[in-house]
Amino acid sequence: MADRIQLLPDHVANQIAAGEVVQRPASVVKELMENAIDAEADKIQLIIKDAGKTLIQVVDNGRGMSTTDARMSFERHATSKIKDANDLFKIQTKGFRGEALASIAAIAHVEMKTKQQDDELGTLILIEGSEIKDQTLTACVNGTSVAVKNLFYNVPARRNFLKSDAVELRHIIDEFHRVALAHPHLEFHMHHNNSELFNLPKSNHRQRIVNVFGGKTNEKLVPIEEQTQIVKLSGFVGKPEFAKRTRGEQFFFVNDRFIKSSYLNHAVNSAFEGLLRDGSHASYFIFLEVDPSTIDVNIHPTKTEIKFEDEHSLYSILRSCVKHSLGQFNVAPALDFERDSSMDTPYAYQGKSINAPKIEVDHNYNPFTQEKTGGSFQKRNTDANWESLYVGLKDNTPSEGSSFTIESDPENLKFFDDQHKKELKAFQIHNKYIVNAIKSGLVVIDQNRAHQRILYESFLEQLTIKEAVSQQLLFPIKLKFNTIEIATLEGMKDQLGLTGFQFSELSQEGVELSGIPIGIEEKNIEDVLFSLIKDTDNQIPGVDFSQNDLIAKSMAKSLSIKAGTSLGYEEMEHLINSLFACKEPELTPDFKKTFVTISSDELQNKFS
Ligand code: ADP
Ligand code: MG
Repeated sequence: MADRIQLLPDHVANQIAAGEVVQRPASVVKELMENAIDAEADKIQLIIKDAGKTLIQVVDNGRGMSTTDARMSFERHATSKIKDANDLFKIQTKGFRGEALASIAAIAHVEMKTKQQDDELGTLILIEGSEIKDQTLTACVNGTSVAVKNLFYNVPARRNFLKSDAVELRHIIDEFHRVALAHPHLEFHMHHNNSELFNLPKSNHRQRIVNVFGGKTNEKLVPIEEQTQIVKLSGFVGKPEFAKRTRGEQFFFVNDRFIKSSYLNHAVNSAFEGLLRDGSHASYFIFLEVDPSTIDVNIHPTKTEIKFEDEHSLYSILRSCVKHSLGQFNVAPALDFERDSSMDTPYAYQGKSINAPKIEVDHNYNPFTQEKTGGSFQKRNTDANWESLYVGLKDNTPSEGSSFTIESDPENLKFFDDQHKKELKAFQIHNKYIVNAIKSGLVVIDQNRAHQRILYESFLEQLTIKEAVSQQLLFPIKLKFNTIEIATLEGMKDQLGLTGFQFSELSQEGVELSGIPIGIEEKNIEDVLFSLIKDTDNQIPGVDFSQNDLIAKSMAKSLSIKAGTSLGYEEMEHLINSLFACKEPELTPDFKKTFVTISSDELQNKFS
């Protein structure tokens, strides 16, 4: 039989590669600006037309290219930045794959002008869809200008997929911010449709942040600084009193490269614990310098995630450094916080890989039977001897591998019947924990965490069995969000509908709700949606959490009873009942313990 395998022609291979490298105009901005920095430019201009759909141009005064290099730069895997595999372990440049220009040229009209200082003339190259249309010598200034026009002109599907100009421009500005904040000692300019959006002179980190985010930012910044064997930390965190409900400005840079890390984000947030009003978010601009051989930037083509060799230590160093600064600058009420287990590394990170919790849905369980509107959780009458749930429960450190299972058939479950009611030995301490005597000892339940688990499973159920329960509003609620936030909500509209959110309007013009999930108070709606947007932003791409999971988790978090809330007897009863009717009562959706048990034996031992 004839051979079947053939090599793809370059322009096809390039188009495929382009799919990875170029998702939207902002990706082009990032690649071109990074090339300019790698070329050691100290002045970089970004010129955009129609949110990048018509033109994205980056002009730099860097080292430029020879004619041959200019031509070569559009070949796939053509790079001046690494020579062999060993170089991969000491990468100092932004790029190294040699794919960006080839990819961009495969899906746009590209015009490059470039000249090296010692050359008399520069080179002009025109490329359309990987095909060289023209190459000439030309008189031009030192440095390189790359103009990318009509992005995705030959990939209509991608072009149609682009969002509104406002949304695409926001993404471009985000990329511009990231690059500009990482390199305060370089001069940056940005123009959109002939108006200047940013003019950033050379400066230091603090001044750059202020120039980017406005004059009032200065007074809000608390410096952080720490030098250890494995990392040098510097930068700023925002004072807690300025924390906003909208997502704060949150930036990590590792060796001057912007990265996303929900793990490090957790470290910073835990340092802020107790300092922020509910639902507000810390802002931070944190620069980490590490030995390039201790990170692997190679794990993602667009490289916003990186892998650290010693992630665990970084976490602790970062957390204590931020805490220290907040204390030193008199921001924190006390330097020494009472130890709180919620500051501990979450379970998810202990094995360094994240496992989504396995959720089974109990289809017979309708959380809204006997629901009283406005109530925080519902009463359920179940009949089974709830204490039997604890029998054999010796291990009081529940973990992912925890060995007991708890039945949750509501028909057979009865934690308390009326006669038992008086015998319930539960009370609340510190308005935070519910302590409960059981035959085999004691259970101490964290009320907030327990409620998160309960709400999470019930929201997840609504989302997966597609049962909208909505409470109609007499007067629609109007809410204010910015462009990006609205785009995020638009992307979740269907799922939100399943939980009971009814949008009478959801567009860039405005957001208006005519129905909200039953059981949520109107005054909490804004917080719930803000948190949801924030949580979506913080989602780690590549980690396999579904959007349903994210929504359920986020809503559970914002709506759960908080520590500090005093609970009546009935409420405690409901909470305990509902918790142990859950599929995974022992952990919050973020894998934190919801309760601990102390067996009679342990108690006995303490007195021996
Ligand atoms: P990479 O940056 O991964 O090497 P690119 O496709 O982005 O791959 O660029 C290919 C090569 O073209 C670079 O290695 C560099 O030598 C050259 N180059 C690209 N942009 C510039 C620029 N603005 N100034 C000088 N050289 C550049
Ligand atoms: Mg590059």
